[in-house]
Amino acid sequence: MPETSHRFATLAIHAGQAPDPTTGAIMTPVYMTSTYVQASPGVVKDGYDYSRSKNPTRTALESNLAALEGARHGLAFSSGLGAMDCVLHLLKSGDHVVLCDDVYGGSFRIIDKVFSHLGIAATRVDMTDLRATESAFTDNTRLVWLETPTNPMLKVVDIAAVATLTRRRPAASDFTWDKATPRKPILVVDNTFATPFLQNPLSLGADIVTHSCTKYIGGHSDVVGGALLTSDDALAARLRFLQNACGAVPSPMDCFLLLRSTKTLHVRMERHGANAVKIADFLSSHRAVEKVTYPGLTSHPQHEIAKRQMRGYGGMITAVLKGGLPSARRFLERVKLFSLGESLGGVESLIEHPAIMTHASVPPENRKALGIDDGLVRLSVGIEDAADLINDLNTALS
Ligand code: PLP
Repeated sequence: MPETSHRFATLAIHAGQAPDPTTGAIMTPVYMTSTYVQASPGVVKDGYDYSRSKNPTRTALESNLAALEGARHGLAFSSGLGAMDCVLHLLKSGDHVVLCDDVYGGSFRIIDKVFSHLGIAATRVDMTDLRATESAFTDNTRLVWLETPTNPMLKVVDIAAVATLTRRRPAASDFTWDKATPRKPILVVDNTFATPFLQNPLSLGADIVTHSCTKYIGGHSDVVGGALLTSDDALAARLRFLQNACGAVPSPMDCFLLLRSTKTLHVRMERHGANAVKIADFLSSHRAVEKVTYPGLTSHPQHEIAKRQMRGYGGMITAVLKGGLPSARRFLERVKLFSLGESLGGVESLIEHPAIMTHASVPPENRKALGIDDGLVRLSVGIEDAADLINDLNTALS
């Protein structure tokens, strides 16, 4: 088993995964079981009584993800939104959320169309503007939710600065699940785009990190999953209760696929980043392209923050094409190596049109304010040969 002093690549391959005690199998078995035999009523082995509550393949994945984020606790879910739903259940009617303005469309939708009906209010704010962020807090703010880099505009939010703002808020003791401990608002960072290889929000002051494991953590476009990581014992206990009570748990097979994937996360992320740097440079100099946004470009408005808080810039790029929707549509129909599809973070390159596809659930006026216009395309740069990817884009653009 790895030690805590081990570095990312070693943890990615070994954390949470001792050889199977029965056979010595080096890969964690897929424990396809819903229940476990008890020696006597209530006498269970290592807490395994029913697989919604606990399953050994899931335990291995949860320990592995926790090690990668430097967290004491990990919880796996059947989707990224399943994980978000669990966090939002920490709240009660009357509570308020400060929400980063440029979150994934589905993250906005669950607050706007589901939890708002349960009496939870939210204020969207551009979190690259710290003064605006501070004024978005109310006396009832109990949760701050941010994504960085954001989806799709790739804004980079200064996590440590937002953590400081959050810590300055008075602590409240009306969290129904922990009245004994007055708490400041809980800061959640969606680390899907960066992955733990490039950024560790808990070390910057976040209380909870969340992932859509469907993306880079899974990395092969073959599994939907989510995760929560925290080092706060009381929060972890409540989230664990909610995970079991609400039930959005992943199957053992999905956990196995994700465990296989985290073993190569560092290698994949290095190649995603190296390819994206080359493609961002290529697009920036192409006459058919009006604007390129990539945190690694010095032209990115928060490039300095990205340099400080990330260990690389990831594989996501957005570009605005000259000529609006007709040009974007033609381009998206002509690419061959880049596949036109939703999702991101797989080994294969994907491309999409946020206004029509992933962010259609964001109201048009919000999209306009954010700059998600009709000429905007989002690229998830895969780990193919960069020259082949550039040739594909070049052919489609011309
Ligand atoms: N967070 C981000 C940044 C995402 O991009 C997505 C999905 O695209 C989600 C959360 C939701 O995850 P899932 O699709 O696994 O439910």
